Amino acid sequence: MIISVWRYSHLLLAVSSFLLLTLASVTGIMLAFEPIADKMQEYRVDGAENLALAEVVPVIRKSFKDVQKLNIDDNGFVILEWTDSAGLAQKSYINPQTGKILGPVKEQSEFFKWATALHRSLFLHETGRFLVGLASFLLILIGLSGIILVIQRQKSIKRFFSHIERLNWAQYYHVVFGRIVLFPILFIAITATYLSVSRFEWINAAEPKLQANTDSLAEEPKPDVKDFPFFRGLKLSALQSLEFPFSEFPEDYYTIRQHDRVVMLNQFTGDIITSQNHSAAAKLGAFSLRWHTGRNGIVWAIVMAISSGYILFFIYSGFVIMWRRRANVLKNRFSAEESQIVILVGSENGTSMRFARSVHQQLVLQGKKVYLTDMDNYRKFPLMEHLIVMTSTYGLGDPPSNAHHFPARLSKHPQDHAFSFSVVAFGSRTYADYCKFGLEADLMLGHGQWASRSTEVFTINDRSPEDFAAWCNVWSLHTGMAVSVTPDLIGTNHHRDLRKMIVKQKTVMTASDDTFLIRLTPQKKATVRSGDLLAIYPADDHRERLYSVGTIDKDIQLSVKYYQGGLGSTFLDGLSAGSAIRARIVKNEHFHFPATTSSVIMISNGTGIAPFLGMISDNKQKVPVHLFCGFRYRRSFELYEDFLVQQKAADQLASLHLGLSREGAHEYVMNLLSRAAVEVGSLLANDGVVMICGSLAMQKDVLEVLAVICKEQVGLDVDTLHLNGRILTDCY
Ligand SMILES: Cc1cc2nc3c(=O)[nH]c(=O)nc-3n(C[C@H](O)[C@H](O)[C@H](O)COP(=O)(O)OP(=O)(O)OC[C@H]3O[C@@H](n4cnc5c(N)ncnc54)[C@H](O)[C@@H]3O)c2cc1C
Repeated sequence: MIISVWRYSHLLLAVSSFLLLTLASVTGIMLAFEPIADKMQEYRVDGAENLALAEVVPVIRKSFKDVQKLNIDDNGFVILEWTDSAGLAQKSYINPQTGKILGPVKEQSEFFKWATALHRSLFLHETGRFLVGLASFLLILIGLSGIILVIQRQKSIKRFFSHIERLNWAQYYHVVFGRIVLFPILFIAITATYLSVSRFEWINAAEPKLQANTDSLAEEPKPDVKDFPFFRGLKLSALQSLEFPFSEFPEDYYTIRQHDRVVMLNQFTGDIITSQNHSAAAKLGAFSLRWHTGRNGIVWAIVMAISSGYILFFIYSGFVIMWRRRANVLKNRFSAEESQIVILVGSENGTSMRFARSVHQQLVLQGKKVYLTDMDNYRKFPLMEHLIVMTSTYGLGDPPSNAHHFPARLSKHPQDHAFSFSVVAFGSRTYADYCKFGLEADLMLGHGQWASRSTEVFTINDRSPEDFAAWCNVWSLHTGMAVSVTPDLIGTNHHRDLRKMIVKQKTVMTASDDTFLIRLTPQKKATVRSGDLLAIYPADDHRERLYSVGTIDKDIQLSVKYYQGGLGSTFLDGLSAGSAIRARIVKNEHFHFPATTSSVIMISNGTGIAPFLGMISDNKQKVPVHLFCGFRYRRSFELYEDFLVQQKAADQLASLHLGLSREGAHEYVMNLLSRAAVEVGSLLANDGVVMICGSLAMQKDVLEVLAVICKEQVGLDVDTLHLNGRILTDCY
């Protein structure tokens, strides 16, 4: 919720200012070349900055008859404004050591004049200036909301620059470049906003006005200019400009501008008549101008040009992200308030969602007002007559990730009118907790006085179209609205993201427990991380089988246990090096190697070791990893032994604890953990993370052991660690 507030603010700000920002960025890139071109000119005089005014003024006086002003520009070039013998005003670069003219100061080129006017005011005078100032301010807000989004995405400020999950190029580069370039962009935006604000005099950043009585200035003593103490003490490096007295009348004086003050100096005595320091606002104004215009140096001007270029990139990539997100968002034509039918979905890897979308679409086509949303979004639905809940079950009968808050929200938002409901529970009969969460959701809803069942709860085994068709028939009969199994729910055609992969290697099956390793090379570059899942469709139909992925040398490695007659495992066993398959990579964000942690305790049994093999081989930072793995026989472990020995020698694996359940000490991982309770407790106390992969039965037992260790050794509650993402599970 909070993330979406920031995301929407970020988006809204960007949408409202993108045209102005595009113009400002394009002209900003052009204008960055002006200071670069200026700096390329050769008017620098070595050592000029160390000359004192007491040395320079006499030289100028000697070389030029009528001088008005001496300027030191941001490049350190010395510019003299003077009048020639024909009475013409001149502006020349000079050598302050010799008084020699180095070249004329040229007017700003027409091109840069045009670009400056467009950049500052869009040729719209004050209105344009205001719009540009507003766009700069919005850019500050975009930058700040962007920083907050990165922190939220990375889940910690400490992980600001850590690895970013690559979902697609636009999202990836928007964040990767954004978190670096945001800082110069913010700087550019802040200086631009300040310049606008001071330009409109909302802040008084004007130079102080010098006030002194000049009617009775002293004319004696009259030391030589070279002996004026003020001139002797002021080097060119500390000077911005020196205005010469207009005439030799006593009421005229020198005006000296420095970065921090303005000084009025008696032209005869050399005494300070008065001086005034710049206000902090004025100093900030001068600082903003210098930095915003890139006059500070070629490197900064180039940084500004690149940053402006990136603003254009962010506008483009931001719109691509928005476009894609819109396409993926549940397309609800009707709002929650006006819909008579509400479909709530609990989905971990998209299956229930696909079925729900199909029903949604069919009902909308019949002219019904239907609203589809996550189970976590349950609330009051004022006009709801029919509620359909479609949900899968995750792990040990737990809710899928978008349904965790459903029970709490159900009791928090009682409906104030009667409606009928039907629960469709997706699962696999292979698991003891078959459809457990769906069954629970049905019971929870049944407790509400306002709710009555339109159908009994239906369970769908293994995405079976037949099971789903049975629900469709009963629900349609009861409600009079026809829904059916659409073709896209039967085949695998819906998976646009099926990728071709070539089998690179396959080991022979271990005789001890029928397990083998298989390595697949995706034909096209794929974004996959250890801990993700590979979905295969062995019969090219609705039946999907998932396998935990370990990435090794950019290949996908699976550890597979063969079940006689098993659809997925038999299919994989039938493959050999060179065979091609089509499979889908399922992102499993919650089971990736932690980006920042003091240590990781990995716990697995059997094929659950698969993702850990990849994570350990990727552990180039040598984060202390302690692996507790259980197998039936020593021979089962041999499949992984050489690899793990190598990783240990390379310090990518800190310790290895092996338990064999059918020989030797007959130990399970739970026994290993209990024995290492003190070490495990101390790792957990020091912010370590636990990852568990393998059978659900093992997960249950391990969590019990961990609960004891947490309580006794650390004084922590295992559920809290689970909730805080310090215990990660991926069991099946
Ligand atoms: C998130 C996730 C990750 C997974 N990762 C892996 C992995 O890395 N390696 C791996 O080998 N499997 C993994 N699986 C299990 C895998 O998806 C299949 O369930 C398994 O390969 C059996 O499928 P099958 O098609 O061969 O058997 P099926 O055709 O589904 O079933 C055939 C028979 O095998 C038996 N059977 C099936 N699955 C199990 C089981 N888990 N325990 C006991 N008996 C069973 C049943 O008795 C069943 O009647 C994972 C599952 C999930 C949900």
